[in-house]
Amino acid sequence: MVVSRWDEAFDLALKAGREAWRRSGDVPVGAVVVDAEGYLLAVGGNERELTGDPTAHAEIVALRAAARQRGRWRLTGCSLIVTLEPCAMCAGAAVAARIDRLVYGVDDPKAGAVASLFDVVRDPRLPHQIAVTRGLRADDCAALLRDFFTHRRSPRSPGNPNSKPKWFENRPKPNHFDLEF
Ligand SMILES: [Zn+2]
Repeated sequence: MVVSRWDEAFDLALKAGREAWRRSGDVPVGAVVVDAEGYLLAVGGNERELTGDPTAHAEIVALRAAARQRGRWRLTGCSLIVTLEPCAMCAGAAVAARIDRLVYGVDDPKAGAVASLFDVVRDPRLPHQIAVTRGLRADDCAALLRDFFTHRRSPRSPGNPNSKPKWFENRPKPNHFDLEF
């Protein structure tokens, strides 16, 4: 599939975000990775509640899938399109993956690490910098998050934050260490 316009990539990212909310009550954030020729490599939605994985943000899910699709970790020439400004972890992962361009919808004043709180992706001290375009489809991206947080405040909302994923009951027992400091 060739993504010819940013709009189409945002449509896919927004859809992945909506799907994450519907499926597991995850915060609706979606991300897409497109290569230099415009071929779609991966789409990812936030899977934190679904998998119980604190690192399963949409960007990480999409970057991992894109690297698998390419057969290598280096995503040179690729663009990462995401509905919400990446956090420090995801901005760091985009740098580690050598992404060329980051395009995102709405700023995240609480955790954003591209424009709001830090600028991880354009820090000249790091070995790689990423070109940034922000504010594309910002209204649509903001509306999706607003809908989610409005619904979550209502008592009958899906995605109870205290619910455990299915694998939790069968997890291996952790080792115990008597540590003294
Ligand atoms: Zn993140």
